[in-house]
Amino acid sequence: MTAAEAAVKSHVAHNYRPLPVVIAGGEGAWVTDTDGRRYLDLLAGYSALNFGHRHPGLVEAVAHQLGRVTLTSRAFDNDRLEPFAAALAELSGKDLVLPMNTGAEAVETGIKVARAWGYRVKGIAEGRARIVVAHGNFHGRTTTVVSFSDDPEARNDFGPFTPGFVSVPFGDADAIAAAIDDDTAAVLIEPIQGEAGVIVPPDGYLRRVREITRERNVLLIADEIQSGLGRVGETFACDREGVVPDVYLLGKALGGGILPVSAVVADEDVLGVIRPGEHGSTFGGNPLAAAVAHRVVQLLATGDLQKRAKMLGEHLETKLARFVGHGVTEVRVAGLWAGVDIDPAVGTGREISEALMARGVLVKDTHGQTIRIAPPLVIRATEIDWALEQLQVVLAR
Ligand code: PLP
Repeated sequence: MTAAEAAVKSHVAHNYRPLPVVIAGGEGAWVTDTDGRRYLDLLAGYSALNFGHRHPGLVEAVAHQLGRVTLTSRAFDNDRLEPFAAALAELSGKDLVLPMNTGAEAVETGIKVARAWGYRVKGIAEGRARIVVAHGNFHGRTTTVVSFSDDPEARNDFGPFTPGFVSVPFGDADAIAAAIDDDTAAVLIEPIQGEAGVIVPPDGYLRRVREITRERNVLLIADEIQSGLGRVGETFACDREGVVPDVYLLGKALGGGILPVSAVVADEDVLGVIRPGEHGSTFGGNPLAAAVAHRVVQLLATGDLQKRAKMLGEHLETKLARFVGHGVTEVRVAGLWAGVDIDPAVGTGREISEALMARGVLVKDTHGQTIRIAPPLVIRATEIDWALEQLQVVLAR
């Protein structure tokens, strides 16, 4: 199917508003469309493709497991789950891993864990547990998760909403302190807000939130689904401030760009509140997913990819800084992850994305004027340079 055919289709229901490209192949940082045109992928599946398309080691892990067993359900144990969980627990410095599939499921699970901890450990009165979240958050699309979104597009006509959340400005630790009361079970934040446009909070914010949550006996849940697993030049974005949350929510890159794999990672005193039979997922922790995610963790355990992201990120930041005032109003960079605000005089984020696509570079707009640059971490510096040359041409039109 060509892009033109795709435009007149379709049996595929709406949810996203994709760029008009139909991808048929991918390798490393590159994809190929149905007409054989190549594009440099600067979105990387919203960070699900941190290792690039069809990373040979990850493909090998999946292929090997396909010849053994693929699905058991959690009614039975499988021999891939414990090695994966042990490796991820070690990478994260935590005791336990609860595997799920999508990011939103990990968030939902984190919310359940926080509430159960609130009632069973902290002693919050039944039905009163509250979770503090941040304005501009993006944690997924389920009904509970959109209940605490402030994006009208994510919420409108999808109510009634789940109660028990209070939202405060992102980056303001005092606002979090003020929002916490005796019924607060957790603070749930993205250490860097991805969908909001790669919003990096002020230095010291996460450290302060960590202190506040510890002092007030409230769990700190870090949604590292987009920011984690190498993207920012560290294993976790929390590492940038030396912060260890009580709960990590992981997804996207955990599946190596091959399968949906997510996880809630925490110590026994927190994740242990979920008792046998209280939570589940048919596919969560399946042997195929565990095999690929285990290999992902092994790739991250060397630290090489994180170093690469840091080095290339500095390169990207230096180059992007030159665009400010030349068709770009602001850039925010964390590792190999950038939010680039396009000057409205030049065009919308969508228009710039489409123009870049025509020049062989794939990015995606967010919130009108912003484009996000989040290439696979295996990209080369020369490829980044080439992509930025295309951006320069597009902005100068
Ligand atoms: N949390 C964050 C920070 C995300 O960026 C996303 C997806 O973009 C999610 C959760 C939801 O993940 P999924 O789309 O796999 O449900």
